[in-house]
Amino acid sequence: MGHGVGVLVPVRYFAPPELSRKRKTGEKTGVVGDPVKHWMDHAEGKRTVALLSGVKEAFAVRDRFRQAGVTADVIDADTPHKERTRILNDVAAGKVLWCGGVGTLDTGVDVPEWEVGQILCKCGSFTRYRQFGGRIMRKCDAIGKKYAILLDHSGSVAEHGFLDEPVPWELDEGGDITDRIKKEREDGERANPVCCAKCGSLFAGSPVCPECGAAIPRRERTEQPDIGRELLVELDAPQESAGQFNLRKQREWTVYLRMCVAKGWPAKKANVMFKSKFGDWPENMGVTPTFGRGDRDKPVSDLCPSLVRRKATN
Ligand SMILES: [Zn+2]
Repeated sequence: MGHGVGVLVPVRYFAPPELSRKRKTGEKTGVVGDPVKHWMDHAEGKRTVALLSGVKEAFAVRDRFRQAGVTADVIDADTPHKERTRILNDVAAGKVLWCGGVGTLDTGVDVPEWEVGQILCKCGSFTRYRQFGGRIMRKCDAIGKKYAILLDHSGSVAEHGFLDEPVPWELDEGGDITDRIKKEREDGERANPVCCAKCGSLFAGSPVCPECGAAIPRRERTEQPDIGRELLVELDAPQESAGQFNLRKQREWTVYLRMCVAKGWPAKKANVMFKSKFGDWPENMGVTPTFGRGDRDKPVSDLCPSLVRRKATN
């Protein structure tokens, strides 16, 4: 791994809500959710690296993105070196938005422009999960990257935890790290991610969804151990004190934007709500997206089409 804490960005997590429903009922889950739809909902326009296990499937998903008008490519073990370099250069330049990797991109590839990770296969080992997460968490000032997004189609966050949770890498404790994490969660030493049934956000330690403001049903809330709340406070505190990008502010900003979309309000309404909560305008607080003077009277639904909720397809 070897990256210093200071160069990582925070992560927002989303999963198809049907995934958590299946998990709760104990139904066996493979990969669920339409990759294109969920990308459009939460990560449209952002450079994305996807983790897949089958070559045929990777090209099929690539074709679906292409049909939706998104530039997409696949790198697998057979991709010639020259083509691989071409694709990675195009990713960095923003010419390729979606890049599927089959067993080749989870380690050793350094493209800090990647902002979104999409897990489209079972991510069996904790180490592999963390290494894949490392692909999207590198800071990249050149493209104004403030946070990363993980689209989890396989329940990996529920299985392995949030990417910014501390890891007991110490080897002297013995045993496999994947098992050790599992045990820590069972013992209540780790937060259990909750999935918002409305928007698919994965989070812990809050009675309402930090992305859309929906209340979490009581049954789920009582399953939340208090440890989750403590963990979240610990993670947020250093960001706050450093005066840098703050995930809480970003999430609140997204809630205001979604509210404006739902009510048909203009962008200036979201700006005012944000300022009354945080004491300054969004453009001064590092959240995205923000709106220029000429756009503030326009409806947020026009300015941010990706926030307009699409009709569920399944
Ligand atoms: Zn939500």
